[in-house]
Amino acid sequence: MPVLEIKNLNVEYKTKGSVFGKEKIVKAVNNLSLDVNQGEILAIAGESGCGKSTLASAIACLTPVNSGEILFHGINVLELKNKKLKVYRQALQMVFQNPYSSLNPKMTIGDILKEPLKINNDLCIYSEDYRALYEFSKNEIEDIITQVLEAVGLDKSAKKLYPHEFSGGQRQRIAIARALILKPEFIIADEPVSALDVSIQAQIINLLIQLKTNFNLTIMFISHDMNVIRHIADRVAIMYLGEIVEIGSTEQIFKYPQHPYTRALLNAVPSFEKKDINILKGDIPSPTNLPTGCKFHTRCSYCMEKCKTDKPVLKKLYEGHEAACFLNN
Ligand code: SF4
Repeated sequence: MPVLEIKNLNVEYKTKGSVFGKEKIVKAVNNLSLDVNQGEILAIAGESGCGKSTLASAIACLTPVNSGEILFHGINVLELKNKKLKVYRQALQMVFQNPYSSLNPKMTIGDILKEPLKINNDLCIYSEDYRALYEFSKNEIEDIITQVLEAVGLDKSAKKLYPHEFSGGQRQRIAIARALILKPEFIIADEPVSALDVSIQAQIINLLIQLKTNFNLTIMFISHDMNVIRHIADRVAIMYLGEIVEIGSTEQIFKYPQHPYTRALLNAVPSFEKKDINILKGDIPSPTNLPTGCKFHTRCSYCMEKCKTDKPVLKKLYEGHEAACFLNN
């Protein structure tokens, strides 16, 4: 059952162009629809610049939306204000890419973890008797921080230390603890392992999988790394220039990829068996000047005349597997 439903979402923003500083419109998310089911890890995959982070930011109500709906448990979050918006932001937390810049270097880990509790001290997230956080004693708050540190595999002695005293992997554990401390039900992890060494990436991925089960979480996992996605995701949505071009279970996407862009992404991963000679050509076009027809036609080895003018839509191929390509339509 979907906990999050995105319907016909459009997100545009203005940017200064390099020529004479003229303003241009970036069409970052284009008429995108997507469901995220309760308890799953849905990966959003694609190259940098395909709109993944803008989508995440829009879902978290951090970026204005031009049109469309974002429904959380059936409620349109784009209409939420004041305390209702605060409750939504508590329920949906983000973990960012860079654990070196996302933690305040001047604060101890204890203070970093206390801060979200202070900001949300009017919410009743830690007690069944609806006690607000400000009614908790200092010791109770300390216990909450200890528990969340232990949940991410860190000792309570971390509370007195500063971010620079930890490795990259430990800092990402602290960032995850900061997201967990508000008892969210949904986490958006935006490239959470791409700044880490490969040996550490596996530890953070395993931690997220374990936390999903232990805390009954739903996770949207954003990444450009298909190897990482294969290990963590239940389902995968492939995004290109602000649109979903293919979606399916992890097995469907990795064993039976249908869209030429998905196949090209997989072909670019050295460890995968090559299924065809479909190589990704050139760079992703600018989202300020989107191609007509199929947005992938400028790079597609299978491009036909109609691909340049007509737009393919997502079509069901198998149960749970959809792709937007005229080769399948
Ligand atoms: Fe390639 Fe055409 Fe399919 Fe687009 S619709 S991915 S251009 S074959």
